[in-house]
Amino acid sequence: MFWWRNEVRPGVSVAFTDTGAGNLALHVGDNPVDVMERRVHLSRVLLSGAAGLGAEQFQYMDQVHGNTVEFIQAHGPGPTADAMVSVASSAGPRVAPQPLAVMVADCVPVVLVGNDTNNDAVIAVAHAGRPGVVSAVVPATVEAMRSRGAVDIHAWLGPSICGSCYEVPEQLRADVAAQVPATWSTTSWETPALDLPAGVRSQLEALDVTVEYSGECTLENDSLFSYRRNSRTGRFAGLVWTHD
Ligand SMILES: [Zn+2]
Repeated sequence: MFWWRNEVRPGVSVAFTDTGAGNLALHVGDNPVDVMERRVHLSRVLLSGAAGLGAEQFQYMDQVHGNTVEFIQAHGPGPTADAMVSVASSAGPRVAPQPLAVMVADCVPVVLVGNDTNNDAVIAVAHAGRPGVVSAVVPATVEAMRSRGAVDIHAWLGPSICGSCYEVPEQLRADVAAQVPATWSTTSWETPALDLPAGVRSQLEALDVTVEYSGECTLENDSLFSYRRNSRTGRFAGLVWTHD
């Protein structure tokens, strides 16, 4: 069910699902009732014992390969965005950050955790495909976290297609690498490619964010969904939540 799961700070956990958790996306032609059942099951497994109101389910978003970052206070209709940030609310009774989810199948799922001045967690997720790397959705997410006082930010990069597999036309490689040089790559069969995780890593390190790689190549691992392997594939998720 989980590719990787860890308590990354006391009371803050990060996970990436695998095909064992099933498809978690509503937009890929799967039966929506089945998708919602899988999401509920995932929430039950991970969030029982989670702190605070509204913490009983993950917030998903309607991802459009843009660079909009939404602040999320409580669970609601999925925003059209490619990144979300949530902080503990200290106005009135303390409310824990809203658990967040990002869906991918080859794009880079990024989960970020920082601390605010009250030493509460500031959590975030971002969806970084090729357009998102070019439009700097991950740096925008870091800026949004810092605008809410986050310091000591760490990022976890989950599974995505790797730089030895993600073949693209030569001109596209040139265009993307002109924006983010670390993406320039070559496939294992010696054709032009892009290394999206390397690009995201370079963007994060330029902002002094510590990066931990929790991934592997989606195309090369049957236990992960890959759009390049099958265009009718499902989506797995990167998840972050707080708990006691
Ligand atoms: Zn690969």
